Amino acid sequence: MKKEKMDNMFFQDNNQRFYVKLEKSVYEKILHYCLISYPKETGGILIGNYSQNLSTANIIQTSEPPQKSIHKRNFFKRSSNGLKSIFDDAWKNGQYYLGEWHYHPDASAKPSSLDINQMIAFSKDENLKCPEPILLIIGGVGISREIFISVFTENSYIVLNHIEVDYKDN
Ligand SMILES: [Zn+2]
Repeated sequence: MKKEKMDNMFFQDNNQRFYVKLEKSVYEKILHYCLISYPKETGGILIGNYSQNLSTANIIQTSEPPQKSIHKRNFFKRSSNGLKSIFDDAWKNGQYYLGEWHYHPDASAKPSSLDINQMIAFSKDENLKCPEPILLIIGGVGISREIFISVFTENSYIVLNHIEVDYKDN
């Protein structure tokens, strides 16, 4: 049994259907992008792989906010600039697009109706080939941090909760 580093983060829904592992290094990178973007929103994509039985999504990489994305105080629109080469490189390592992250500066991490509609559109995007994308939002006022994470499926979303584990067999 491989022991996970204690500081990776694990999330699961109440019905134990979806399980997400977020590598600590990815989380720290995302927090860094949030910090340098403040007080404007920012975001990027999540890359990784699935366990053999598809129950677990492993978030292994993130992109920096793509150039030409639109960053405002209460709005972010991710551009697809540069993503093709990121996807091609990931593919060589058996990794794929898993979903999106973005930042709500000085606000709740809860998704807006626009966020929800965008994710439903991403789930149907032929280029992304990801029918059940993950949405990760970082919110929180000042230096406090709030995380929202969910999986979009069948035109709706399922919220995942942070859980404490020290290892997990895939
Ligand atoms: Zn949002």
